Amino acid sequence: MTVAIPLVDLAALHAPLRAEIDTALARVVSSGRFILGPEVEAFEAALSAYVGVRHAVGVSSGTAALQLALLAAGIGPGDEVITVSFTAVATVAAIQLVGAQPVLVDIDPTRFTLDPERLVSALTRRTRAIVPVHLYGCPADLGPILAFAERNRLIVIEDCAQALGAQYQGRPVGARGHFGAYSFYPTKNLGALGDGGAVVTNHDVFAQRVRELRQFGWRDRYISESVGVNARLDELQAAVLAVKLPYLKAWNARRQQIATCYAMTLVDAGVELPHCPDACEHVFHQYVIRTRARDRLRFNLARQGVATWIPYPKAVHQQPAYAGRVRTPTGLAHSELATSEILALPIHPGLTDEEVAQVAEAVYQGIREPDFPTGSRAMR
Ligand SMILES: *Cc1c(COP(=O)(O)O)cnc(C)c1O
Repeated sequence: MTVAIPLVDLAALHAPLRAEIDTALARVVSSGRFILGPEVEAFEAALSAYVGVRHAVGVSSGTAALQLALLAAGIGPGDEVITVSFTAVATVAAIQLVGAQPVLVDIDPTRFTLDPERLVSALTRRTRAIVPVHLYGCPADLGPILAFAERNRLIVIEDCAQALGAQYQGRPVGARGHFGAYSFYPTKNLGALGDGGAVVTNHDVFAQRVRELRQFGWRDRYISESVGVNARLDELQAAVLAVKLPYLKAWNARRQQIATCYAMTLVDAGVELPHCPDACEHVFHQYVIRTRARDRLRFNLARQGVATWIPYPKAVHQQPAYAGRVRTPTGLAHSELATSEILALPIHPGLTDEEVAQVAEAVYQGIREPDFPTGSRAMR
């Protein structure tokens, strides 16, 4: 008898931390201070130390983090920003929020991240920034991206929403570009009990701008020095994040251990396994396999109680709101093919070794089982 295996299990993740979390929440409630106070400051200090950057600024979401980084860099209407189409829609939404034009390029299909070779054909006189996305927790190929940006005097904003703790050539992602943007959406590797995000940077001026822009451009209360937004991190979320951050290393290590286990057990399963590039540390926000039999495999896994996920079923340029409204100078064949072949297996840190073995066994079986019954193709 098999037991259902969920994709994420936040209640189980929090259970051993409940006393600490409850204490932190009670402290904030008693303090009577709920927005931008000592809890946010303490979490910002802990996060900047963790990433190894001079500044971390807590904000209201990952989308807000990207938006504020773009605003702080002075990017707006008339400017173009290069990113990928194979990403969370939030990456592209943030570019549009500041009024800039998203220019979407194709991915390197071996790591699912921005292909640096595509940058040259996307460059125009209006290009101002590049937003590489460390998708699934795998670092994008930052070396050539940063070199291209430097040659062309472009700003680099790393979308690290899925990659807190990942490393590129021995350094955490987010620390190499002008800005790193993080999300603390509950299911991210470090999640709040609601929305949250952060911008990190080594540039004092940029940090100061983000601090002002997250609260109406205020330097002093009620005096706007610039046109900002309301994108503040609240004290309750910051207090919870500060409790959880010290555990992140162990959680990411457990994700890596599960990935290693899948890699060994699925080596001849007949599916393509994720690949961690040399000199990179992948933190496996998602464990994404590829197969042309994706829909059949997904159906068979569901029958065996294994939950799976498709991140993402459509690239951004294929979505109704964006089709025809974004520039796509390179063609997006790899992005489109990926949407039809990818499948994310459970990899949350609470999975037991037995559950991991059960998932692997189910994949093994599921890929071999013949066709699925009629009507199941609609399942998504
Ligand atoms: C989650 C995510 C975001 C957005 O973060 P929110 O906190 O949900 O606004 C941006 N980019 C990527 C790649 C993400 O996965």
